[in-house]
Amino acid sequence: MTEKLLVELKNKLEKEGASFVGFSDITDVENNLGYKGAVTIGIKLLDSVVEQIYNEDSPTYQYFHHYRTVNAYLDRLALYTALFFEKSGLRCLMIPASQSSVNDPYSGAFPHKTAAVKANLGFIGKSALFIHKDYGSMVRLSTVLVDVPLSPDTDVCRLSCGSCSACADACPAGAISGNSYIPGAPRCSVFDAEKCSFYMKKAYRDIGRGAVCGICMAVCPFNKFTR
Ligand code: SF4
Ligand code: SF4
Repeated sequence: MTEKLLVELKNKLEKEGASFVGFSDITDVENNLGYKGAVTIGIKLLDSVVEQIYNEDSPTYQYFHHYRTVNAYLDRLALYTALFFEKSGLRCLMIPASQSSVNDPYSGAFPHKTAAVKANLGFIGKSALFIHKDYGSMVRLSTVLVDVPLSPDTDVCRLSCGSCSACADACPAGAISGNSYIPGAPRCSVFDAEKCSFYMKKAYRDIGRGAVCGICMAVCPFNKFTR
């Protein structure tokens, strides 16, 4: 895969509405499904939608709809990317923006966040969310795996949560421990996915069918509107 083709792909994705695009080498990732490289595609959520969660301290109908619309759009951009690679003679695999794996109801087939961090686009916060270096936590991701290693086109992100604990303090389920995430550590070291899911199903069944909350995402000070 030539650098020129990757620049062309990135330009097209950004023209189609991607907020950011990154490339990574995933040869050393344990669950890489036999692929060597990854393209991360991200969309920033609308300020107005996330602000509503922030102001109401609750998920909203608008957020549920926005969440699903953005996921569907990410899947479309991922399909565009996969077709682009196939045309170039490369084997690739789309990882859906939001789909649980058969073996684990709280994880996808491949972790979007791992590829995004390896692409130097941001870091994983105490909330276990991916925090983009410019857009904060209010982003959604999709990933396309490809059978050649790709190199990041941006410098390593050196940001971290520091002493902040806003997400842990705000979580109504007590699902966030407040510990810093250590790269490579299991997600459960900072975040209890079962506790989060159980609470959402109980408290927000009438909003987003108990599948979304977003409070920990909305309060993160890396989001421009909360700064
Ligand atoms: S989504 Fe809601 S319940 Fe789950 S960890 Fe975040 S704030 Fe807590
Ligand atoms: S709210 Fe604070 S502690 Fe939580 S992820 Fe954002 S910066 Fe990190």
